[in-house]
Amino acid sequence: MSRFFSTKIEFLKGVGPQRAALLSKELEIFTYADLIQHYPFRYEDRTQFHTIDQVHEDMPFIQIKGSVRHIETIGAGRKKRLVAHLKDDTDEIELTWFKGIPWALKRISPGTEYVVFGKPNKYGKKYSIAHPEIEPVTSANLKGGYLQPVYPTTEKLKARYLDSRAISKLIKALLVQAVDRFEENLSSRLVEDLKLMDKRSAMIHIHFPKNNQTLQKARFRLKFEELFYTQVRLLNLKISRIEKYRGIVLNDSKLLTTFYNEHLPFDLTGAQKRVIKECYRDFRSGRQMNRLVQGDVGSGKTIVAFICMLIAIGSDTQAALMAPTEILAEQHLNGLQPFCEAMGLKIARLTGSSKKSERIKIHEELLSGELNILVGTHALLEDVVKFKRLGLAVIDEQHRFGVAQRAKLWNKNQASFPHVLVMTATPIPRTLAMTLYGDLDISQIDELPSGRKPIKTTHQYDAQRLKVFGFVKDQIEQGRQVYIVYPLIEESANMDYKDLMDGFESVARAFTDIPLSIVHGRMKPADKDFEMQRFVKGETKIMVATTVIEVGVNVPNASVMIIENAERFGLAQLHQLRGRVGRGADQSYCILMTDYKLSKEAKIRLETMVQTTDGFEIADIDLKLRGPGDLTGTQQSGLMDLLISDLSKDGEILGLAREKAIALLEADPQLDLPENKPIKRHINSLTQNVINWSKIS
Ligand code: ADP
Ligand code: MG
Repeated sequence: MSRFFSTKIEFLKGVGPQRAALLSKELEIFTYADLIQHYPFRYEDRTQFHTIDQVHEDMPFIQIKGSVRHIETIGAGRKKRLVAHLKDDTDEIELTWFKGIPWALKRISPGTEYVVFGKPNKYGKKYSIAHPEIEPVTSANLKGGYLQPVYPTTEKLKARYLDSRAISKLIKALLVQAVDRFEENLSSRLVEDLKLMDKRSAMIHIHFPKNNQTLQKARFRLKFEELFYTQVRLLNLKISRIEKYRGIVLNDSKLLTTFYNEHLPFDLTGAQKRVIKECYRDFRSGRQMNRLVQGDVGSGKTIVAFICMLIAIGSDTQAALMAPTEILAEQHLNGLQPFCEAMGLKIARLTGSSKKSERIKIHEELLSGELNILVGTHALLEDVVKFKRLGLAVIDEQHRFGVAQRAKLWNKNQASFPHVLVMTATPIPRTLAMTLYGDLDISQIDELPSGRKPIKTTHQYDAQRLKVFGFVKDQIEQGRQVYIVYPLIEESANMDYKDLMDGFESVARAFTDIPLSIVHGRMKPADKDFEMQRFVKGETKIMVATTVIEVGVNVPNASVMIIENAERFGLAQLHQLRGRVGRGADQSYCILMTDYKLSKEAKIRLETMVQTTDGFEIADIDLKLRGPGDLTGTQQSGLMDLLISDLSKDGEILGLAREKAIALLEADPQLDLPENKPIKRHINSLTQNVINWSKIS
């Protein structure tokens, strides 16, 4: 975009410094470009008139015309309202005002014909429109025929007379100046192939569409453009990384073969084998691997990681495994230790609570190369932790680690960069993965080990607690273990903490002769660990806990997961929690406990959980319910600054954008072809304006 668009917003006529300050604070509108890209979030249909007998409460905003028969003020004091009775040839409807009555009285007189616009509601048998827009009939408004944009605004802006209408006026004024300055920023090939609306028309029609058809075309064009450029930039990142960072060649599969033939306790699933092959191909390629492995809880990601580590170690390098919590690091250590012993490998654990003497030893053995595998938490990222030759870094449960941390791991090995394998059990819908991790390759373990019985999930009301406790007793008598989880959204929330303690006491009263554990965020890590280990060893039968057990913990004998106040959890979290059971051969159960009072969304979440155990299906519904913002968190923003696209709805356009971006970069990686000049110019302006992309990688 030309320099015109970087003009500060205060210089637009009708704005000035004070409103400019407010616009930047409230809506992050700083420049002309920001304002012109402040898109309407909906449009009011002014393309047709309805007759009054067609009016129905399900209609959103409608336009009618008629004459006011009479006006009356009803009620007194705070209940006072003004009612105007509007009539056309077919029927009558009430227009009501609770506020601004004097203003309305001045504007409306009986016998006059008006064009009225508003949202109809039904009270008893009567329809009415509260606070409608009302104008005397003119030849101009009778022609109607347009969609009126509605812009996002805030209470503070409205207080300064910057409501949707006023913003619309500002944009109209700006468009008049801007209209001949828009440059086409897609190649004519793309515009023609996809029959896209040109940039200039799209910018006009997104704000002031003539009709629904032009609006759809404008929207499609702008969404495509936005997603296309996100993809081009992500793919560029990936390409430059591949060029810049040579990967260590890992091509010795001796250890892997020995392990596979002599020590692997089960058959790998087809999906596990496929993912290992995908990694092995990358290891041998000479390029640095950056691969995200998505696999539902219990799909067996750990063993895949271990087998990949064996390739790294066999090829004279070391491996690191980073987990988000100490408990998980511990569990990984315990899980891998027997395998390491069998294979004659040395493994150690490094966390924030490792003793100094341990640390020193670990640091030494890492540098000498004596240590083959280091398992740990964030502590692995500290600068003092240096490897002789790190070949593979595995990051478990990706969603707790940002891109920056990934970068830190790469830097552990200056000469050549270790391969990075990121494992996540939070299934991310394809559309989101493409945008968030567009710079990674993605593998999926989309198959559970055989013999697993699908977890049975039910929703029970608090009133049925006795029955639920009876079931728990029954399961424990059969030798199983049980989780009872309480929401503790913030570890500091006293109410939640009290709920947990009350819950623990009532469980203790109900199960007097059964050993219990309790784990929550206020306990010291060592105490948490101790209790967790008692449960893992089967010494305690019921684990009362907060969500600290959410991620990764593996107790195959646990067969019941009870989630208290289940309505307070998000879908992704419910799914994670449920994944703690169903890991052994026994039938497992998940019981979602709630009060009778439930919001509509909470009901959908609970129903979803009862109906499916498919993580990807759940992730899709989650995305639709929450929108992508919550799923991605802030650490990714920058990559995710989407102004018009909505990842929960625009999956198809995203797919198309990615396909076109890949084709473009394959055919013309440096964007040297004349036809791609507009694209190159646009990318350059983006990189100048927005962020330093190389830093993010
Ligand atoms: P997640 O993918 O959730 O991290 P884990 O790696 O913890 O899952 O594996 C869950 C359990 O399944 C572990 O006890 C593991 O030993 C077991 N497991 C993994 N792969 C298989 C397989 N192919 N067949 C049988 N059991 C398996
Ligand atoms: Mg795991």
